Amino acid sequence: MNKVKTTSEKSLANNSRIVALLTQLEKINSESLLVEADTARYVTSKILHLAQSQEKTRKEMTAKGSTGVEVILSTLENTRDLQTTLNILSILIELVSVGGGRRACILVSKGGTQTLLQLLLGASKDSPPNEELMVQLHSLLAKIGPKGNHSRDKKFGVKARINGALNISLNLVKQNLQNHRLILPCLQVLRVYSTNSVNAVSLGKNGVVELMFKIIGPFSKKNTGLMKVALDTLAALLKSKTNARRAVDRGYVQVLLTIYVDWHRHDSRHRHMLIRKGILQCIKSVTNIKLGRKAFIDANGMKILYNTSQDCLAVRTLDPLVNTSSLIMRKCFPKNRLPLPTIKSAFHFQLPVIPTSGPVAQLYSLPPEVDDVVDESDDNDDIETETETENENEDDKDQHFKNDDIETDIDKLKPKQELGRPIEELKIYEQFFPELAENFQEYDLVSKEPKPFASATNLGGPIVVPTAGEEHPAEANQSVKGIAVKDLSSLQMEEYNKRPCFLDLPKKDHNKDSLQLQNDQKKLLSSCQCLSQEIVKGLDRITLQNTSKNEQYYSTGCLIKKESKTSLTTPTCNKPCQHVSSCGSGLFEGPSVQLGKLCCTGVDPEEEEDSSSHSSGEQVLLEVPDMLALHDPDLYIEIVKNTKSVPEYSEVAYPDYFGHIPPPFKEPILERPYGVQRTKIAQDIERLIHQNDIIDRVVYDLDNSSCSVPEEGDILKFNSKFESGNLRKVIQIRKNEYDLILNSDINSNHYHQWFYFEVSGMKTGIGYRFNIINCEKSNSQFNYGMQPLMYSVQEALNARPWWSRVGTDICYYKNHFSRSSIAAGGQKGKSYYTITFTVSFPHKDDVCYFAYHYPYTYSTLKMHLQKLESMHNPQQIYFREDVLCETLAGNSCPLVTITAMPESNYYEHVCQFRNRPYVFLSARVHPGETNASWVMKGTLEYLMSSSPAAQSLRESYIFKIVPMLNPDGVINGNHRCSLSGEDLNRQWQNPNPDLHPTIYHAKGLLQYMATIKHLPLVYCDYHGHSRKKNVFMYGCSIKETMWHTNVSAASCDVIEDLGYRALPKILSQTAPAFCMSSCSFVVEKSKESTARVVVWREIGVQRSYTMESTLCGCDQGKYKGLQIGTRELEEMGAKFCVGLLRLKRLTSPLEHNLPSSLLDIENELIESSCKVTSPTTYVLDEDEPRFLEEVDYSAESNDEQDVESVDNAGDYEPSIQEDALSDSEATRTHLP
Ligand SMILES: [Zn+2]
Repeated sequence: MNKVKTTSEKSLANNSRIVALLTQLEKINSESLLVEADTARYVTSKILHLAQSQEKTRKEMTAKGSTGVEVILSTLENTRDLQTTLNILSILIELVSVGGGRRACILVSKGGTQTLLQLLLGASKDSPPNEELMVQLHSLLAKIGPKGNHSRDKKFGVKARINGALNISLNLVKQNLQNHRLILPCLQVLRVYSTNSVNAVSLGKNGVVELMFKIIGPFSKKNTGLMKVALDTLAALLKSKTNARRAVDRGYVQVLLTIYVDWHRHDSRHRHMLIRKGILQCIKSVTNIKLGRKAFIDANGMKILYNTSQDCLAVRTLDPLVNTSSLIMRKCFPKNRLPLPTIKSAFHFQLPVIPTSGPVAQLYSLPPEVDDVVDESDDNDDIETETETENENEDDKDQHFKNDDIETDIDKLKPKQELGRPIEELKIYEQFFPELAENFQEYDLVSKEPKPFASATNLGGPIVVPTAGEEHPAEANQSVKGIAVKDLSSLQMEEYNKRPCFLDLPKKDHNKDSLQLQNDQKKLLSSCQCLSQEIVKGLDRITLQNTSKNEQYYSTGCLIKKESKTSLTTPTCNKPCQHVSSCGSGLFEGPSVQLGKLCCTGVDPEEEEDSSSHSSGEQVLLEVPDMLALHDPDLYIEIVKNTKSVPEYSEVAYPDYFGHIPPPFKEPILERPYGVQRTKIAQDIERLIHQNDIIDRVVYDLDNSSCSVPEEGDILKFNSKFESGNLRKVIQIRKNEYDLILNSDINSNHYHQWFYFEVSGMKTGIGYRFNIINCEKSNSQFNYGMQPLMYSVQEALNARPWWSRVGTDICYYKNHFSRSSIAAGGQKGKSYYTITFTVSFPHKDDVCYFAYHYPYTYSTLKMHLQKLESMHNPQQIYFREDVLCETLAGNSCPLVTITAMPESNYYEHVCQFRNRPYVFLSARVHPGETNASWVMKGTLEYLMSSSPAAQSLRESYIFKIVPMLNPDGVINGNHRCSLSGEDLNRQWQNPNPDLHPTIYHAKGLLQYMATIKHLPLVYCDYHGHSRKKNVFMYGCSIKETMWHTNVSAASCDVIEDLGYRALPKILSQTAPAFCMSSCSFVVEKSKESTARVVVWREIGVQRSYTMESTLCGCDQGKYKGLQIGTRELEEMGAKFCVGLLRLKRLTSPLEHNLPSSLLDIENELIESSCKVTSPTTYVLDEDEPRFLEEVDYSAESNDEQDVESVDNAGDYEPSIQEDALSDSEATRTHLP
């Protein structure tokens, strides 16, 4: 660009030939014209010659500062000489034909459009109009209209209509149908006109649709150029509903299909892919209206497009045809209703108070006879009258829209500094702060030596957080690679030792005992036996209802039922662990648990080899056993008994019972093979085409308790009647394919995304396809390499008790199940989305579990807290668990306090203790974000650990933690809400004590802290993010919010401490999963009632954050390319603590010996935050930023904003590449 400019300036200075000619022309313009006609003709022909032959000339004429174009246009306006006019048109065509859109833009900016349209008007009055002039004029006009993204003249269409030019071109075509040289440029101009909807309607009234059908026709090698333009024009015209209706009325849908088939048959060498695509584009436009879709179905369109696209599959260059066909078929696929009686949750919970307004109020006020599964939302699109007003400023509108959600009212941004509740009322929270009154006189705090936990509690060793400690020595060794120290057999042994001991041995002996056993091979066997007993008990106890039986097992330990002996004889079972299998398998065959010969089949020869290869070659993580330190199956069962679920669950899922340890191998982000989505969609379409192949058998149904699965060997069994489970219905579609429907959040009719269910009765060597068909988010990380999680009970019994990422052919796409507007927030015509994945099970007759993300139940939290409490050293750690409040269902919401015990009970030490700043943490307000709980587990374990850094951290702060803000939601398998049917993280401004008790009291605690002048230094709410990678934070800053809306003037006077950036900055330096560039400090209006914003604005905590952890994985740092696991999440929780320690050093004026690099942080922040242009993400919706990743797989089939609309207006020959890009499949990397 620069180069061009300098050369042209130089040549201008040199007084080139063209400049001389232009000057001459200018002179002619200013003088009498008629006289000089000859001269003008001569000069313009000279200029034309130069423009045709020299790029240099074209550059000069359009260079910055050159008046060339003006002079030419002025001549064009003034001359009446046809030859001069033609010369000038040719010059202009030469100018705009190269150089991208820039030169066309220059012509437009100099008023070229208006001049040309006037010329057209004048010329059209001649009868007949001069053909050459019309050809030239239209050729030029076609080049200056809006073109894709390079908008030349955006108002081109409007100007043409105002000038009355539309029908001139139309009539020219009508009257010269055989004159292809003339009508080609006219059609090009019509195509540009048609992209304006008002023009399209106006042209339609004058018969343009019918006209186009006269031009397009069956396969012919002649005039393919014309055919293509006509098709493009038609596709643009048919986007108007009026025109589409006209086309349907005249039977053109059938005609288009016939033409398409004809081209499909004859274009055997695929030379005319673009024409074939053009025909599809027309079909796509016309099927935007309901009548069009009906006509398409009536004309057998589904079968035609299905069959033709199957033919095209083999040829990669025909992908655009396959994909466009797929889009059309999806759109026309008859909308199905979800096979449910109601979309309201299958479970009902009567609220103590019904809110007066909002979604829950609506739900309650809905008359019972209303069909909420589907409404008439899709039926009235044809009745709408077409807008006849202009939408020219789409871009401007977009701009406004973008900033709409950002808070611009500076008063609203400034801290409110008023307490909503009177001080007397807040006094009730005093009970949660006994540490501020405690004088520790009764404590013996003489010894400062950290005491070994075992001696204090006889339980477990100190908790070692895997990777967290600052420069943990084991860090280099441990890793996802699994470097190792112990082989599997010793791991197994440890596992075996540990688990049964928890159950069968007096707890005091456990530690000692397991140590003794560690290297003793013989005892491994005996512990195997114990394991089997444990499993037996566990499996049996999985049904809590049968308590008498439980007690029996509990008391008798290794009791073996009589009937077990029958299965003992299984001949294949000759493994060392035979006794495991034998005593296990028999008991598994109880009436409530169908496990079959679980252990026997579990240790078949292949398995054996498999595990031995693991143990010999591969290494296992050193710290793996520690991961289960907080797990205690026995305790878990006890806790579950007190957990209150709305459906009154009586079963326990095995994974929650056995526990989970991170697998010792990497789980890379899955690369998606080419064409998965379209294959899946084609299979969905086959449901319609080959209806007889569809089984359509309900195999699980919460709404119909009498639903029984026929006892056929081939059918999978489903279950989710346990804590956090949420499967509502399963329908077998084909032999190995199932549609799954998730239950809505209780007291709600939507919010499904989270899933957790059990599958059994499987065979090996079969790929089972699972489709969860009522997802709601418009895109998902499942399209970007995320896999669902599976837990195999047989694997767990083989010492691999972990959730692992599984599934192939994963994709997430819009399906053909319609979503009622009642559930879509009033929006009509929305569809649900399908997440589909295919799994081959590792074992026959296994029991497997699937989950959206690593489950973490409320009972698990309670168990972890109890273990932490029982294992901690009370001499060193001040730990308290209070009940913040009861939830709606009567579960307790734990509040944890952790700090260090004072150094002694001397006054100064007690003072130091009381004056420690507070850190307030919370998590899991959104039940579906289980990753938040794993991060919280990491935080809690770190805070309770014995490392010097942890001790130092405890001495620095008092931690107040609400680890689960929404227990009821978690227990009942909700995705987003509490039992009140509302998103609790939108209730912080005005929490209702009866409907949102946990929020009401968490806020009360914070308000109380403000009144007693113990405002937390940091508040952080842990969340999970479903659409982005890495871990990142949202904070609050007035200045950054203002910068985002460019209201910089107003924010000038605001003095803002940049401290809010320090913690995320520290984390980005210390926590491998954390990513600073994903952080945002903008305050959005839609977030004004979230914890983060309210705690910042109302309570006045400057460092108030939401920390979002990905559900998928990382695309930067140490974990780049890997899916996230519980190890990484827990590490994040620990690193968060380490970050707080650094923050403490930064904020403490007493610390002097800090590395200077850290002291510079604030300065660095000032610099970095000045670069506002950096793409700081601001987010419109907590979990769905409008910040799509490079590739969008969402595959919208509502085509108004389709990507392809761009090339309709553009060139006739979008490259194949471009076509492929508009393909929703978008596996770009695989393109040739
Ligand atoms: Zn969340």
